Amino acid sequence: TVTLEGVTRRFGAKTAIDDVTLRIPEGSTTCLIGPSGSGKSTLLRMINLLERPDEGRVLIGREEVSAPGYPIEALRSRVGMVFQQYSLFPHMTVLDNVTFSLREVHHVGRDEAVERARRELDRVGASGLEDRLPDQISGGERQRVAIARSLVISPKIMLFDEVTSALDPELVKGVLSLLAEFTDSGITILVVTHEMRFARESASDIAFMDRGRIVEQGPPDQVFDDPRSDRLKNFVAAIG
Ligand code: ATP
Ligand code: MG
Repeated sequence: TVTLEGVTRRFGAKTAIDDVTLRIPEGSTTCLIGPSGSGKSTLLRMINLLERPDEGRVLIGREEVSAPGYPIEALRSRVGMVFQQYSLFPHMTVLDNVTFSLREVHHVGRDEAVERARRELDRVGASGLEDRLPDQISGGERQRVAIARSLVISPKIMLFDEVTSALDPELVKGVLSLLAEFTDSGITILVVTHEMRFARESASDIAFMDRGRIVEQGPPDQVFDDPRSDRLKNFVAAIG
């Protein structure tokens, strides 16, 4: 379970995250939706401490990972994150990208790292690309490799930030169905997405953010079919 308690994050005069309290149950898939600039990416980045709260606490299970001095390495071995683009190291082959953190951060030997990497590449439908460089594969393949790179550390939590936004339309579906395959895997998943169909069909929970706050949260049927606030009604109507 990931818990944010009264989390606030400011950038100068701008309050990007405004007193957010959010509970993401273990093994659930939560989709974070909301307008541009509402704080979705900042919230996601808070969970693996790419951003730190100015106020409030971030907990994984009962551990407060936002506590001063909490070992970041321990956190990064439990939380995987995939971004919109530029996730891969451009000068490394696919195989080296996927084995990198195992070898350099977790000190796994070469043979075991390669074996685990091949297994994850196979799982995401990217086997056969091991020796290519990131600019020698398609955008959809790059995202699959980025997902394999996150999975190889066997994370308990996966964070996806608009992983399909930079893809050509014909590639989006394949990557979304790959994400959907993880929803029953026991991994706790938090997805920022504009793909409302994916959110409706694959998420166990939806959280709607606006101006740094979680305005509504609940199962997809409730949030999409019975929005309470005008802000969510407008958002659903605009994006529908
Ligand atoms: P989008 O849908 O466009 O990706 P978002 O919901 O992910 O938007 P964030 O990227 O979290 O929004 O940004 C929330 C607010 O915080 C925005 O106003 C943004 O300009 C601001 N912000 C985010 N990161 C920084 C930063 N490093 N420095 C200054 N302002 C920032
Ligand atoms: Mg964003």
